[in-house]
Amino acid sequence: MWRCECGGLLDIDLRAKFPVDMIKQRPPDMWRYREALPIDRDESIISFNEGFTPLLEVTIDERVLYIKQDHLFPTGSFKDRGASVMISKAKELGVERVVEDSSGNAGAAVAAYCARAGITCDIFVPEDTAREKMTQIQCYGARLHKIKGTREETAQAARQAAEHMYYASHSYNPFFFQGTKTFAFEVCEQLNWRSPDALVVPVGGGALLIGAYLGFAELLSAGVIERMPRIIGVQAARCAPLAHAYEKNFDEVQSILTRKTIAEGIAITMPVRGPQILTAVRMSNGHFITVSEDEIKGALRELSAQGFFVEPTAAATIAGVRKYLRDCRRNEEIVSTLTGHGLKNTRKLRRIIAHR
Ligand SMILES: *Cc1c(COP(=O)(O)O)cnc(C)c1O
Repeated sequence: MWRCECGGLLDIDLRAKFPVDMIKQRPPDMWRYREALPIDRDESIISFNEGFTPLLEVTIDERVLYIKQDHLFPTGSFKDRGASVMISKAKELGVERVVEDSSGNAGAAVAAYCARAGITCDIFVPEDTAREKMTQIQCYGARLHKIKGTREETAQAARQAAEHMYYASHSYNPFFFQGTKTFAFEVCEQLNWRSPDALVVPVGGGALLIGAYLGFAELLSAGVIERMPRIIGVQAARCAPLAHAYEKNFDEVQSILTRKTIAEGIAITMPVRGPQILTAVRMSNGHFITVSEDEIKGALRELSAQGFFVEPTAAATIAGVRKYLRDCRRNEEIVSTLTGHGLKNTRKLRRIIAHR
């Protein structure tokens, strides 16, 4: 079951525990927060010992901040956090076949974990998906379906297939968010069990943003931290339905005109968890930032010059960081992240770097 009979979204109700002294002695991966992850039996866990990615001090526009290097996951994006927990749950439920739709990275992550779990998988992507991402999905042995049309039409095709397969969706399936929440646990532990002042993250469908909010909320209610960081969501100006709804003070995302952006990973015109994303940002006292194509390219060149090799979507976040730095307090402690590896889309990168 991937949504309620009424059509509504499903979420997991869980009282997470954090036995800090025990956690510190465990291997440095995301499964060290075992008591907060809703998998019943250890034998069900499908993992590459992923996570606990480095939280690195980086200087951007003469300001020092922390950047979590989530492009260093086994499949090259933070989507592995969600896929590890979701596919572990599928394994635990005895699922033999799953379907997922994606602009590439979530599909690659689900395909990799299914390969490790011995689960058959069908991945739907829009026809214009980056070639590297399609190759990666096929290498893992998944069946790749290229759909003519938009990202939304791709999702519709997958939902149709989901009538007779387990829908391992990174938008609907609540277990995916149980994995992405480990982002918050790691940031908290790496800051010596504190929360930062602000968190600047990319947002399309909200897998990372909602996960981070959920994670900090659990740390807060367990008494591990004392306050929620401000959550800043970065969208591409060309596809910014969430920023638009926030500005207008709407509780739901409206259908607005969007255009193609080089930040393909966050090009979501109708996020199914839109109301949850808006609530998370408002509850944390945060806001949204939009970035232009030129600002994304500028951030990508800046990151490359500092030795980071990331895909354009990841650079969009840092373009957002640059804007946030202009308006925030001088001494604010800021955490941001790099979400996808550069090898995910070399053609786009070559074009951007050629215009240096
Ligand atoms: C999925 C993804 C994002 C964030 O998208 P959400 O759906 O909001 O989690 C950001 N960067 C990359 C590289 C991605 O693959």
